[in-house]
Amino acid sequence: MVCKAMNMAVDLHTHSTASDGTRSPMELVREAEALGLGALAITDHDTMAGVLEVLDAGFSFDTHFLTGLEISARPPDDFNRGDELHILGYGMDPKDPGLRVLLDRLQEARRERNPSMIKRLQAMGLDICLDEVEEKAPGGLVGRPHMARVLVEKGVVSDMDAAFTRYLGKGCPAYIEKYREPWKDAIAAIRRAGGIAVLAHPGLIRGIGPRGLRLLLGMMKEAGLGGVETYYPRHDAQMISTLKGLAWEMDLLLTGGSDYHGDFKEAISMGTGAGDLFVPFSLYTELLNRLEKG
Ligand code: AMP
Ligand code: ZN
Ligand code: FE
Ligand code: FE
Repeated sequence: MVCKAMNMAVDLHTHSTASDGTRSPMELVREAEALGLGALAITDHDTMAGVLEVLDAGFSFDTHFLTGLEISARPPDDFNRGDELHILGYGMDPKDPGLRVLLDRLQEARRERNPSMIKRLQAMGLDICLDEVEEKAPGGLVGRPHMARVLVEKGVVSDMDAAFTRYLGKGCPAYIEKYREPWKDAIAAIRRAGGIAVLAHPGLIRGIGPRGLRLLLGMMKEAGLGGVETYYPRHDAQMISTLKGLAWEMDLLLTGGSDYHGDFKEAISMGTGAGDLFVPFSLYTELLNRLEKG
């Protein structure tokens, strides 16, 4: 088993219908098993409902299942103030009361923002209403991808990307900022719930270079960050090598995953990402070891 496991791939970044993926939590688990993945984490945006669904099902799986989460956080003040920082959490107790309070706050903020964004789309003359957007989000957590889906299906835009470029992306006419949890509070809540906090896809942070990454990771490590997502579809070899170096220097764990969203990101597959992703099983065992040490 150990030898076999050593060559296995894992996927530690996936989204279910509980947030903005198109596969149900159990479908994700079945897909991971069918692919022969060694471990899977479901990391929905701002909710652990999908994770709970898998745990409550009470099955044992061929694929190890790790609880996960991706929190929409506000970056430190001197880092791209207007942008969102995504902080992944692994190994949390999904029923932790502190985490519940934080997630309720983020979900409430989405409920406030969505109708305003729809109103803006309507004001631009587009035929779209909240009900049909909510229909695309069976888990109840509505976001911009669900609005994009409606616009694609109605032929307003040709694909999801176009919906973001023309209407929904930052700076576009329908865009409204949503509340983001201060980064330090996000890390603290993940840790208090027994988890490890990991900076998600640092390569996507606009305008950040190796120097900025060192500063950001140093600051976050001091506040309790445990790892950095290194293997990611949009990270090139240079980015991976920079992150590996910084992680080694700062004693941070490496993690990785595809950011699979099912049909909402058609070019991305579970496990292999855009085709060449391989996240080794050893990263998962190191994460588990660190979780056990507490
Ligand atoms: P929200 O959390 O509602 O602000 O929506 C942000 C989410 O939209 C991100 O986490 C991505 O999953 C998704 N997203 C952002 N840009 C795009 C895009 N160009 N195409 C498809 N999905 C996107
Ligand atoms: Zn998403
Ligand atoms: Fe993300
Ligand atoms: Fe994600």
